[in-house]
Amino acid sequence: MTTISVTSLKKFANNKFLVFSCILFLIIALSAVTAYSISARQINLSFIEQQLSIASETIRLRLATSVDSELALVSKMADTPVIRQYFINPCNPVLKSRADDEFTLYKEHFNNKILYWVNDVDKIFYSTGNAPYVVNPDDPENYWYNLTLYETEKFIFNINYNPDLGQIYLWVNVPVFVKTETGKRPIGLIGTGINLTDFSDFVVSSYHKFDENITTYMFNKYNEITSAVDYTLVENKVRLEEHLGETGKELIRVARELPGGESRNFIYDKKMYLVNSIPAMEWYMTVSYPVPGLLSLNQAMNTVFFSMLALILLLFIIINAFVSNSENAMTNQNLQLLEANKKAEFASRAKSDFLAKMSHEIRTPMNAITGMAELLLRGELSCEARGYARDIKQAGNNLVSIINDILDLSKIEAGKLEIVPVKYMLSSLINDTVNIIRMRLREKPIRFFTNIDGNIPNSLIGDEVRIRQILLNLLSNAVKYTEKGHIGLTITIDKRDDKQIVLRMDVADTGKGIKPEHQANLFDEFVRVDMKKNQGIEGTGLGLPITKRLCAAMDGKLSMKSEYGTGSVFTVIIPQGIESKEPFAVVEEPERKKVLVYEGRVVYAKSICWTLENLAVPHAVVTNQEDFVATLYRAEWFYVFSGYGLYEKIKPLMNQDDSIFRGGKKPHLALMVEWGTEAYIPNVRFVSIPIQSLSIANTLNGKADRRDYFESSGVIRHTFPHARLLIVDDIATNLKVGEGLLSPYNTKVDTCLSGAEAIELVKRNKYDLIFMDHMMPEMDGIEATAVIRAWEKEFACQQIPIIALTANAVVGMREMFIENGFNDFLSKPIDVSKLDEILNCWIPAEKRANNNEQITTNKENKGQDKPSLPAIPHVDTAKGIAMLGGKSDTYRKVLSMFCKDIDERLPQLQIMPETNTLPAFIIQVHSLKSVSASIGAQELSSNAAGLEAAGKAADMVFIREHLPGFTVQLAELEENIRTVLSGSV
Ligand code: ADP
Repeated sequence: MTTISVTSLKKFANNKFLVFSCILFLIIALSAVTAYSISARQINLSFIEQQLSIASETIRLRLATSVDSELALVSKMADTPVIRQYFINPCNPVLKSRADDEFTLYKEHFNNKILYWVNDVDKIFYSTGNAPYVVNPDDPENYWYNLTLYETEKFIFNINYNPDLGQIYLWVNVPVFVKTETGKRPIGLIGTGINLTDFSDFVVSSYHKFDENITTYMFNKYNEITSAVDYTLVENKVRLEEHLGETGKELIRVARELPGGESRNFIYDKKMYLVNSIPAMEWYMTVSYPVPGLLSLNQAMNTVFFSMLALILLLFIIINAFVSNSENAMTNQNLQLLEANKKAEFASRAKSDFLAKMSHEIRTPMNAITGMAELLLRGELSCEARGYARDIKQAGNNLVSIINDILDLSKIEAGKLEIVPVKYMLSSLINDTVNIIRMRLREKPIRFFTNIDGNIPNSLIGDEVRIRQILLNLLSNAVKYTEKGHIGLTITIDKRDDKQIVLRMDVADTGKGIKPEHQANLFDEFVRVDMKKNQGIEGTGLGLPITKRLCAAMDGKLSMKSEYGTGSVFTVIIPQGIESKEPFAVVEEPERKKVLVYEGRVVYAKSICWTLENLAVPHAVVTNQEDFVATLYRAEWFYVFSGYGLYEKIKPLMNQDDSIFRGGKKPHLALMVEWGTEAYIPNVRFVSIPIQSLSIANTLNGKADRRDYFESSGVIRHTFPHARLLIVDDIATNLKVGEGLLSPYNTKVDTCLSGAEAIELVKRNKYDLIFMDHMMPEMDGIEATAVIRAWEKEFACQQIPIIALTANAVVGMREMFIENGFNDFLSKPIDVSKLDEILNCWIPAEKRANNNEQITTNKENKGQDKPSLPAIPHVDTAKGIAMLGGKSDTYRKVLSMFCKDIDERLPQLQIMPETNTLPAFIIQVHSLKSVSASIGAQELSSNAAGLEAAGKAADMVFIREHLPGFTVQLAELEENIRTVLSGSV
């Protein structure tokens, strides 16, 4: 569909281009024609102008010449002595006769031209071929009435019109003067006439051969019209400006500027005018040639220029129209595509919404089904029925896991997946992830290692839950598709700046691997590959697509390299914000802490070396006893890290006297134990596999997560008989543990089970120190502390030191608690020496008493107590007693309180948590993690840790799988403890 659209789009654009080219061509042709016609017209006009000029010049010359010759004639006659004498004596008949003869002679000579004289006696005119007209004003019939009379210095002009003849004459008169003593006196005049009617006809015919519309006027120096086609104008002595208005004024203005005999052309008001002068008469002649749209050359140029401009503009508009048309067409196409896209998206969202709703609806009855199956399995069943019940439970669990994945995917597709960046501790995230994976790996002979770059800041900002999900998906796949060998989680820094770090997380396995032909579509939904080989492995084919989409949603990416039969590496590169730059794990003075690693399991040896290298700790690795012996005494070692299984072999060597060792001091020993197999050996530190950089750093720095309780619980320096302490914990067992641990201090201890109660107690009593549990239902320790701090501000004069109790003892916690108003923190299970430190630090000196007797958390007691309590399966009672400062009676109390606690909590734990009850569930298992560690039930504690981590990762499949077993384990433990307690009392 897309290809068709693109082709039609191109076709459309091509057609448009053709149309556009044609239009362009037409425009160019049109402009050329316009330009040509304008120039042709201009040439034509110039030609007319020239012709008119010639015509008017001819006319002007003809008139001027006629006037001049007439003037010359009459002047000559006026100077004739015979005529002059007669004029002086008009009554003398002899003189009159002689003058007549002379006059006739002239007339004959000039071809009977009109010639006349006027004197005091003869007031007559003569006209050629006509009877003479008497100038008699009383007889208008025969009167060549005077139209106008003009005088120059020497001549008198007048124009007369004879309506009978329909002729107009210009009379040219010369006065005849007689000299007197005072000057000269006019005694008559001699005149001749020019037929202006003929002349006008000539003028008109001269012009009209160019154009009928040519008009011509003559006017005198008074601006009176002296010649026009319309004689009434002449007759009424109409002034040119009266007749032509502004044009007349313009003509007069131009005419006045003309020196004698010159002519000028000009354009005025769309007409071409030609003006010239006849100096002898001080007349002017104008000719106008109306040309609509007549332009001067300049104007013509302007016209051409503006036309071109207009054309360019037009072109621009057309191009724009074309482009926008194409764009419109494209937009239309795009809109259609968008519309289609929208519809597809809508359909997809509808599908996702439907899936989300259905998944949710299906999950509820599925819970009931698996729950019922679980109940069935707990009861008495025949072998066959048990098999069926197990199948129902298994199938139910699978179905729920599929539904959960679908729910996730549909959420992502429906755009409902929100990435919620929060501040989180990387150490905590890794701890939780490792806990879950370790639990999943229990039944497989697979070595699991983690290589975490200690330089990564511990406090990060990102969507912790989703990162956890990504890691768990990849690690769970590694567990699923690997039968033997190892699985490794490596987290390093890809890039970093001040605010952001790009983490690279590699999950490598030595599993089945993926065939090259399957790798391409591995991230597509519901794709499961190599089904023959993977038969029996549960899955939906949704894990990787979800992981890929989650990565993308967080601006990260997921890639994969795999070799069929050898293994796979899945790599996530993802940016996270840096909350605080403090690194994840640092060894203080690493160069002074040389480590000897004795580990036959190459994978673990390599991993621990990677970590030591990363922490800049000098180290050597040996893989067999011979090398170990050789190396142990050869150099001065700060620590020996060895596999737990090798302990028996190295014990004799390590137990040697200090003096045998280099530097005169034997190195410390740390044993690497598989998860859940933690044991107690005096003076030996246990580090859980997978070894984490943080554990190594803590070990080498001599910090927490020490398990050598006996050693650390040395001497109590002071008692606090005058102090009053409060312990807040939602688990009664923990309160008992606390009370037990504090009993040697001879101090008053109050306890309560909730934050709200604690606040009430603080208001009522004066405490010197409060131990506040972090995670509690309803109001947690942080909230309760905030309320107490607020109350203190108003009502108390000083702050009570509040110590946080937490089972989440990871790096960065201390800072978090201090930020939230706490003074310090104590990790659970409580380390007695740390407790002693805290009491001495925070309880005011005046409330102390010196402990002269030196109450010891006796090692001897340990020996006495141990037999007094028969062994409880899965409980290291010795460790439990040790953790209570060696007091077996306190331990008993704690154990019975533990049973009570379990009694209360078990019913709640037997219900599978829902999304809304998950937070409460996390708090429950979190509490159980610490409380079971306190009594020495390490396995139960680890299982609780696994469930807590799964809860945080909202990994319902894991919880569904492991919770029933956990509750059974819990119930069994309670049973066992009760049996032992009742028997031994
Ligand atoms: P699922 O595991 O539920 O089948 P996934 O989307 O997580 O679905 O994985 C898709 C397919 O990719 C699996 O069916 C499996 O064939 C293959 N696969 C994923 N991870 C690995 C791995 N680590 N080693 C080998 N094959 C793997």
